[in-house]
Amino acid sequence: MREQKKSSTMHKNIWYPFTIIQDAPEPLKVTKGDGLWLELEDGRRIMDCISSWWVNIHGHAHPKIAEAIHEQAKKLEQVIFANFTHDPAEKVAEQVTNRLPGDLNRVFYSDDGSTAVEVGMKMAWQYWKNRGEERKTFICFEGAYHGDTFGAMSAGARSMFTEVFSELLFDVEFLPYPQTWIGDDEAGDKEDAVIEQLEAMLNENPDKYAGIMIEPLIQGAGGMRMCRTSFLQKLHWVNRQYGTLLLFDEVMTGFGRTGHWFASDRAQVEPDIICLAKGLTGGSLPLSITVCSDEIYEAFNSSDPMKTFWHGHSYTANPIGCAAAIASMELMEENEPTFSAMEQWHREELDQLMDHSKLKKQRVTGTIAAIEIDNEDEDGYLNEVANHIKKESVNHGLLLRPLGNVLYLMPPYCTTRDELSTMYKGIAELLEG
Ligand SMILES: *Cc1c(COP(=O)(O)O)cnc(C)c1O
Repeated sequence: MREQKKSSTMHKNIWYPFTIIQDAPEPLKVTKGDGLWLELEDGRRIMDCISSWWVNIHGHAHPKIAEAIHEQAKKLEQVIFANFTHDPAEKVAEQVTNRLPGDLNRVFYSDDGSTAVEVGMKMAWQYWKNRGEERKTFICFEGAYHGDTFGAMSAGARSMFTEVFSELLFDVEFLPYPQTWIGDDEAGDKEDAVIEQLEAMLNENPDKYAGIMIEPLIQGAGGMRMCRTSFLQKLHWVNRQYGTLLLFDEVMTGFGRTGHWFASDRAQVEPDIICLAKGLTGGSLPLSITVCSDEIYEAFNSSDPMKTFWHGHSYTANPIGCAAAIASMELMEENEPTFSAMEQWHREELDQLMDHSKLKKQRVTGTIAAIEIDNEDEDGYLNEVANHIKKESVNHGLLLRPLGNVLYLMPPYCTTRDELSTMYKGIAELLEG
C-alpha cells in the first residue's frame, strides 16, 4: 500500500538537506542578513545564535567581505589552478600557515569541509605508500562527524545518517571520545582510559594505522561533545611515540571558535594535517583547505607519477572565495577581543541557568556553549525536544537548531555581551514554556 502523502509546503523544485520530507515544517523565507540578525519575509527579525551552519563567524552580509568579493569579481573571478596561480590563493596560504603551529606549511584547496577531510585522508594514506609502507586503516572517534562524502562518512560514527550506506563504507577503528562537562570529576580518568586503549592498539599493530583523526576539543554534529586540551596533548605524545600521523578536523573549531585562532593553538598541539572550512570565508563562499606538514609534502615531491597526488576540483582555490577569506581573516584580527572573551560571557550566563531542573552536562569551550535537556525521550538526534525548540525559538526572536536534546549557542563574533544575555533569556523562557 502506498503511504498517504500530505501535501508539502516546501518549494516544488527543491530537495532540502537534512530534512525529513513529510514531517518538515514550512521553511522560513529569509530576505536579508545583517550582522547577528536575519530578516524574514513576514517582517520578523531573529538573532542567528548559531552562525547559520556554523559558518558566519562575523555575522551576515559584512560590508568588508562584500566589498572584497565585489572587487575580486571585477578583476578575476575564476581560473584553472593547475599550471596557473594567483595572488589571492597565495595570500590566503601565507596568512593561514603563519597562524598555524609548527611546520604546517603546505595548503591544498578544495570546496567544503567534507572534501577537506577527504583530501586529508587521501594525503595520509598515500604518504605511507609513497614511503613504501602499507598502512591499512585509520583510528577515529565514536560520535565523530567529518562530513557526508564516503571517506568522511567512513571516518565518522556509524549512525542513522550513514546506516543505509554501511556496505559502502570502509572500516576504521573507533576509540571513545572522552567528553566532559562542567562539574565532571572523572575527566582525567576517561582520558587515561582512552590513551591506554590507544597504546594497546599501537603496541599490537604498530604499522597498521595511517593516522588518527579527531575533531579537537569539540565534536560538532555529534552533539557538541567537548574534551580537554590535556587529552589532545596526551594523544599528540602517543602519536609521536609511535610515529603515526595526527589529523585534526578543525572544519568547525577553526577560526576563533575555541577562543583561539585554532583548537591546535589552544591545546598547544601540532598535528600533521589540519582540515579547515566553515569559518574560512566568514560564511560568504564555499572554500576549504587542507594543510599538511613539510614532511608529508616532501613524500610527494617527486617526478614519479605514482607518487603524485591526483586530486583536484573544478573550483579549486576560487579567487573570489580566497578574497573573501583574506577579508575574513582581517576581521578575525579586529574581533579577537570578542572571540577570546566569549567563553567567560557564556560561563557567567550558564551559571544562572545551572539550577534549571531540566538541564544537565553544561559545557563551554571558547565561543561555543552547550546544555543537554533532560526529558522522557531518549538522548540523541531524534529527541522530540529538538523540533519543539526549532519551531518555538523563532517566536522568541532566536534561530536555534538543537542537535537532538543538545541545545547549543555558537554566535558570530559581532555579538555583544547584551545580545548574548538576550539569547540566554530567550532560552530560559523556552525551557519554561
Ligand atoms: C561541518 C563539518 C564537516 C563537513 O563540512 P561540510 O562543509 O558540511 O562538508 C566536517 N567536519 C566537521 C568537524 C564539521 O563540523
